[in-house]
Amino acid sequence: MPEQTTTIMEFGKPDEARYRRAWHAYQARRNLVVTLFISFLPLGFFVARMHLGEVFSFAMLVVWIGIYLAGAWWLTQWHCPRCGKLFGDRLWMPRCMNCGLSKQELMAVVRGK
Ligand SMILES: [Zn+2]
Repeated sequence: MPEQTTTIMEFGKPDEARYRRAWHAYQARRNLVVTLFISFLPLGFFVARMHLGEVFSFAMLVVWIGIYLAGAWWLTQWHCPRCGKLFGDRLWMPRCMNCGLSKQELMAVVRGK
């Protein structure tokens, strides 16, 4: 599509740097959320082995869920580098809900393609 090609070719160096910073910020947030999600099983196993009692184990679970939700919320607060508005209102949105910039396009700019 010629429109998309034109958009990508119009990037100047400052735009590219801004896109790169935004992409690294996104990756950091995404990796945190994925790590929190994956860590649930080993953490649950660890807490169960410590025999801390139901109340304490339940409290740990609630705290972990709170931390995960905070991380997920932080991920949804990531701003689109093109329009400057929130990229999406839920997790794993492939395109900006305001300007339509896709994560694929963003990755292509960051990788210099
Ligand atoms: Zn946007």
